[in-house]
Amino acid sequence: MDKPEIIMAPGPTPVPPEVFLAQGSPLVYHRGPGYGDLLREVTESLQRAAHTSNDILIFASSGTGGLESAVANLLSPGDRVVVPVAGFFGERFAKIARAFGADVRTIDYEWGSAVRAEDVGRALDGAPAKAVLMQQSETSTGVIHDVEAVGRVTRDAGVLLVVDVVSSLGAVPYDGDAWGVDVAIGGSQKAFSATPGLSFVSISPAAWEVSRSATNPRFYFDWAAYKKSYDQPSPENPFTPAISLMLGMRAALRRYFDEGPENVLRRHQLLSHATKEGVRALGLDLSGEHPERAWAVTAVRAPEGIDGDELVAKVRADHSIILAPGQGPLKGKVFRIGHLGYYDRFDIIRCLAALELTLDAMGYPVKRGAAVAAAETVFAEAP
Ligand SMILES: *Cc1c(COP(=O)(O)O)cnc(C)c1O
Repeated sequence: MDKPEIIMAPGPTPVPPEVFLAQGSPLVYHRGPGYGDLLREVTESLQRAAHTSNDILIFASSGTGGLESAVANLLSPGDRVVVPVAGFFGERFAKIARAFGADVRTIDYEWGSAVRAEDVGRALDGAPAKAVLMQQSETSTGVIHDVEAVGRVTRDAGVLLVVDVVSSLGAVPYDGDAWGVDVAIGGSQKAFSATPGLSFVSISPAAWEVSRSATNPRFYFDWAAYKKSYDQPSPENPFTPAISLMLGMRAALRRYFDEGPENVLRRHQLLSHATKEGVRALGLDLSGEHPERAWAVTAVRAPEGIDGDELVAKVRADHSIILAPGQGPLKGKVFRIGHLGYYDRFDIIRCLAALELTLDAMGYPVKRGAAVAAAETVFAEAP
């Protein structure tokens, strides 16, 4: 039977029908009050979601475009930045900064480690820098880094804190202003479950100040151009915005606030807990530090004798469920289950059932129903 595949990889995530419907509605012309209202609502909703009163700018780009905008607007060639690298997205931030001529000092961790604020403090003592570039959720390992603790260090050191929250905002607690985050970058296709194509960037007054004297080249991602257009009586974009995606994003954010941010977080915590208990009930080990905080992604060690990539491919071929393979040094050794965004308990149960059947078919000793039963127990005991 030809049914759509089910994404249980960490982005893009499944999209609820009202978002698709909104994207299919007529365009709102981008010069004039209709679009101004749309842009204002999306921007203010994102500020509420990120707990920030800082400016937020929205770009038609994937999340990486938002990351690039931070490097292009904040840095000049030769500026020193500290970049903790504990996975694929840490590496990406370092690569972007290098592409723009920064003097990149990485703090290198084994993949799956959590970034330690003391290490960032030591790196800044050793070599004063302009900014620290990090992730909140290192999607490649599932690990949630302690942004709050790093924020105390960067504030003391008078250094900008730039955080990739693409796969964390809306899935785990995040408190931008209270934690002293200067720049945060998010994306539409992760926990908010809109379609891919929008990035958004929050910018503190200190970051604006630094951006005014930074000399890296920028044009499409020039923050000042977006701010100028936004600050008109009816907010606009300097270039044609992705109008349909903005309509979808508004629908996604209305859904987010209808459910309630606290309830959304509790749902992510519960689904993550059920997934992890299910996996453990099969005798598999979780991968990565602090799995209890990893509400966006569950990273699992492939059992002895089974290749993680083959497992992921077989779950997809046999059951039309898309898991994510391990990346970098974890390739083949780890597979990942994404549960950020538009998921509920039966998505988890279906995924665990597919995992049981596939492991069984690959010769791993499975007690049928064990993972599903463990997840059901978590759900039954939830308040
Ligand atoms: C998904 C993701 C991104 C953005 O990737 P794009 O493909 O450019 O949207 C950036 N950082 C993290 C941590 C992510 O999970």
